[in-house]
Amino acid sequence: MEPIKDIMGKVEIPAVVNAQFMQLLNSLSGLRIISNLGNKQLNRDRLIDAMMHAVFEHLEAEELSLYLLEEDSLKCVANLDWSDFTKNNSSINNKTHSCLMSDGVLGKTATNKEIIHIPNCKTSDENLIHYKANEKEIGSLICAPLLVNDSLLGVIELIHPEPNHFDSWQEHSVIIYADLMSMLLNNDKLMHNMKNIVDVRTEELRNALEESEKLKARYEEMSVIDPLTKLFNRRYFYTEVTASMARAKRYAQPFSLMLMDLDHFKMVNDSHGHECGDSVLKTIAEILTQFTREGDTLARIGGEEFVLALPETNPVGAQKLAKRIISTIQETDWDCRGTKMDITMSIGLSSLRHHENDLLDDDFQVSDILREADRALYFVKGHGRNNIKSYSEIQE
Ligand code: GH3
Ligand code: MG
Ligand code: MG
Repeated sequence: MEPIKDIMGKVEIPAVVNAQFMQLLNSLSGLRIISNLGNKQLNRDRLIDAMMHAVFEHLEAEELSLYLLEEDSLKCVANLDWSDFTKNNSSINNKTHSCLMSDGVLGKTATNKEIIHIPNCKTSDENLIHYKANEKEIGSLICAPLLVNDSLLGVIELIHPEPNHFDSWQEHSVIIYADLMSMLLNNDKLMHNMKNIVDVRTEELRNALEESEKLKARYEEMSVIDPLTKLFNRRYFYTEVTASMARAKRYAQPFSLMLMDLDHFKMVNDSHGHECGDSVLKTIAEILTQFTREGDTLARIGGEEFVLALPETNPVGAQKLAKRIISTIQETDWDCRGTKMDITMSIGLSSLRHHENDLLDDDFQVSDILREADRALYFVKGHGRNNIKSYSEIQE
């Protein structure tokens, strides 16, 4: 063993020790590169590629393969040989091949979960069928299992065409490299699983939200109650009044309809705020409710428009009721946060007109009586508001 001198020329170190020391440093720097990959958030292929390059560069193999476990077989996912490496090619293998867990040296490594180092493949008794089938000329070989908590992820395989190429330091290094690679591959798998779970949950949540939106729309559609005033809404009003008007027509009974609209309500909102406007609408609903009898149908059919259907009420009765309503509204002390408000309402009326025995017009529908009441209401709005008119009056 030829002694050499260090840079200071003071200590003499045998060349072989120095060479081993350099190999150790080389091996450690490879480990450092691989351990840093954990912070880089690479995708799986790029992680594998970077790990393979680090192993190849620092463990002096001529050919390097990574087999990952897929069900009962080992599937080669990455492969680098010297020419790939010098051309800076990717190790990710498009032409992947697989072998059964029971096959040859690879299979034995996987089954026993132990490293196999064959210093001289030409004289070895190990089953090298896998390489012979590929017509691969190999001199020495190391196969190491990739293990996480004793469970197998795959096998890493280092090949050199020369027999007796790998030293024991390389064999030991491969074990450490394999452990580190297993840890990174396992972390990547966990992250991937986690992402899948998050993706599935996100998709489920999105579907649930869509479903609840549909349900909400459906309930709103089915809903018959106005959420602000708790009166019936326009949809319910039509269904209900169609039935009650049909009864009135069939039995030639009186039937009146009262359409009510608050006067200058936009100004109430503008001067006192929307919240005050809302509270006025609620109070109006309470007042109107007090005036309804059993069989009447009261509904909010627009923003500040209400309608009251009055079966068994003739035009005179409807007029009387309307008068009581508008005077009650006018006389109410309207107050919003200490500020007085003037609230008035205009009312248009219409009643079914019967012949002596039968209806004036058999086709007369809810929309028709509403239209007549609206014409009367429009008349009131054009003539000072805070008043009542019936359709028959404006026809004269
Ligand atoms: P007119 O005497 O001619 O009926 O005048 P108006 O201002 O009452 O009539 P217009 O149709 O111009 O305005 C109605 C206003 O009612 C507009 C809107 O701000 C208000 N409004 C409608 N729905 C609501 C509601 O739910 N809450 C509140 N606060 N205001 C509403
Ligand atoms: Mg209106
Ligand atoms: Mg109005």
